[in-house]
Amino acid sequence: MRSFNNGRPYHGSEAVEGGKLRGATDTDYFYFFCPRCPGKHILRVLEYAEHAQEPVNPYNEQLGRKAHGGFTLVFKLYCEQCRLTDFVKVSNTGWQGGDFDKLPTQRDVAKGAVENAS
Ligand SMILES: [Zn+2]
Repeated sequence: MRSFNNGRPYHGSEAVEGGKLRGATDTDYFYFFCPRCPGKHILRVLEYAEHAQEPVNPYNEQLGRKAHGGFTLVFKLYCEQCRLTDFVKVSNTGWQGGDFDKLPTQRDVAKGAVENAS
């Protein structure tokens, strides 16, 4: 069996981070749009894999509805137009609610870590 990304390391680049990767549904299918190309150029999904799996969802104790375990799926995305190759993960062990625009950014987190260290 082939391993995801031919066994090479994978992580989304800055091109997809910080809200730059967007998408939409048509029916109930979700499409990712190329963060580099103008307009809403649809990316291909070349492959996917289970990046992580946990038997118990870590948020079940804190939240009302119980999830069936914890999972993180990773997708390898590709743009036929500009040849961007990138990765995105979908998980039920990340943020579980709240207002996305009010979430701390990675910069805030790093700044907090610096302040806590001093
Ligand atoms: Zn593109």
